[in-house]
Amino acid sequence: MRTSALEVTVGRQGSAWHAGTASDWAEEDLRGLERHGLRRHLEALDSPQGPVVRLGGTELINFSSNDYLGLANNQRVKRAAAEALGLRGVGSGASRLLVGSSVAHHQLERRLAVFAHAEAGLLFNSGYAANVGILSALCGPEDAIFSDERNHASLIDGCRLSRARTVIYPHGDVRALERLLRSIAARRKLVCTEAVFSMDGDRAPLLQLAATCGEHRAALLVDEAHAFGVIGPTGAGLCEELDVISSVDVRVGTLGKAFGVFGAFALGSRSISELLLNRARSLVFSTAIPPALCAAAEAAIDRVQEDPQLRARLWLNVRRFAEGLDAMGMAAQPRSPIFPIIVGDPRRALQASRALRDRGLLVKAIRPPTVPSNTSRLRFSLSAAHTDSHLDQALRAVREVLAP
Ligand code: PMP
Repeated sequence: MRTSALEVTVGRQGSAWHAGTASDWAEEDLRGLERHGLRRHLEALDSPQGPVVRLGGTELINFSSNDYLGLANNQRVKRAAAEALGLRGVGSGASRLLVGSSVAHHQLERRLAVFAHAEAGLLFNSGYAANVGILSALCGPEDAIFSDERNHASLIDGCRLSRARTVIYPHGDVRALERLLRSIAARRKLVCTEAVFSMDGDRAPLLQLAATCGEHRAALLVDEAHAFGVIGPTGAGLCEELDVISSVDVRVGTLGKAFGVFGAFALGSRSISELLLNRARSLVFSTAIPPALCAAAEAAIDRVQEDPQLRARLWLNVRRFAEGLDAMGMAAQPRSPIFPIIVGDPRRALQASRALRDRGLLVKAIRPPTVPSNTSRLRFSLSAAHTDSHLDQALRAVREVLAP
């Protein structure tokens, strides 16, 4: 007998779960995902993050994490979190605008602003929440957002939520963007791009984008999720490296990747920061990030600032890996720690991922909708914590499993 959707929420009837209408929908959709090789599953790590992780009782060299500097399990960062837990407790108890805003949040925001040469910094609970909140706070139905076609889901969803007209421009194509900016009328125009593209590892042409936005009086938002801590003379991202900070209206960074912690931040002028605090719904209506994580993030920034060797080690690894792939005819460039090897079909990507795992590597298959259809891939993500022998083992496995 079919049941109403409402009954699903009622749950147990007697001792067995009572599957309702939504459960039928779910099973039908899951079968569809399975047929197309797109069903996803969780796997539980039995170790902290690191260059080597334990999964299902097996040690694997980890090439799927964004812990670029190996800080997720760093002693100093952990100690800072533990001390702050003792001092400030676990939960923040409320959103920032109620009573969830602790000294730790304010201190980290000031620190981030100084670190990244910005007037103001504002914390968000995640990079996803930041992008969704910022775009929908800054733009509305009378506006147009110009978005690179390979932008991350959080930017795509931010465009949708803003109800602005969304104009997708071809990946990194500044000329095409310029034509679109010229031909489309809107109250406000905002261009958004990633600095380093998460699934391709290439860099946005930020110098040209900044100049074009200047000419067309468009605002520019740059998501530096994969660039903070990794790129730039002090690790403050691609905008710092290219010296375009003053031409960018909003920069977004996450604390969950190179900084090894959790959370995210927006950088910009004081007025932008204050408007976001008033209007970004993902910030206004959500419990604040735990203060202990703010302390951990500060300790991670300390590490990034005090030890440029960390970044240098990462780039040594990036060059070594790129040269290794290049020698196999895979035309890799040392642009970022992200190396995609595209295989096309999602099932082939899963097979390749399994074959790599048999050789001791954890490299997850990346499939639609994370990437466009027919571009499923193995995404190698390097860390400063990888040793030469980790990289050599990876290159040997790539030669056996993926080389042309
Ligand atoms: N932007 C980009 C470019 C990303 O790759 C990600 C994470 N995959 C995010 C934003 C979201 O960041 P977070 O994981 O902190 O939600």
